Amino acid sequence: MWYWILFGLIIFLIIMQVVVASRFKKTLVHYSSVPNKSNKTGAEIAREILAKNGISNVTVIKAGKEGVDHYDPRKNHIMLSPSIYDSSSIAAASVAAHEVGHAIQWGKRELGIRFRDTLAQPIGIISNIGSVMMNIGFTLLIFGLIFGSNSSYGTFVFWILVPGVVVYGATALFQLVTLPIEYNASYKAKKQLQTMGFITTEDERIATKKVLNAAALTYVMALITTLAVFALYLLKLLAIIGSRR
Ligand SMILES: [Zn+2]
Repeated sequence: MWYWILFGLIIFLIIMQVVVASRFKKTLVHYSSVPNKSNKTGAEIAREILAKNGISNVTVIKAGKEGVDHYDPRKNHIMLSPSIYDSSSIAAASVAAHEVGHAIQWGKRELGIRFRDTLAQPIGIISNIGSVMMNIGFTLLIFGLIFGSNSSYGTFVFWILVPGVVVYGATALFQLVTLPIEYNASYKAKKQLQTMGFITTEDERIATKKVLNAAALTYVMALITTLAVFALYLLKLLAIIGSRR
């Protein structure tokens, strides 16, 4: 019974994730057409905030496609989408300042951002191995069902549930560590935009908050969904171990 309730919850969360992501996109598109009062582009704002904070080794570059805005501590660059890099909109100011927030965190060794970014690679590897194992598991399970083998249950446990628990557990941990880092980068962005005068009016302040909050919500939804899937795999695994004793 609990299994189906949790399964229903996961479906609901996945739908919510799509809703939250499309709401963020809509907010971003809307505020991409509202100019910021300073009339400076995302790239200019990013460079000025970096300079103000004494960060001289980070370059701001333009991405070849949309939706890839990030700060890379290894390459020492902030990559901005063309629509952020060249635009002097509220959305551009918000996203650019947020990415600079990550550069400041890294420079000041704040909030375990170095721990998070060190974690990124091993978790990527775990996730890849895990999905390969799950795929093998599904294949074996289907073969087991077709040829009527009794061993399909054991296959289910070891090739689907075990990697599932490891992958979703590791991913949840990563997303949990990411959350405060994201909120803090947005907090820094709002503060820098205001104190440096890129954002002046109350309307602009509210607009910036809307853009950054919509982005943060996508991270929250991702974490909740991962936790639910993790719980499903773990409870199923424990139930099977328990029933075999
Ligand atoms: Zn971020």
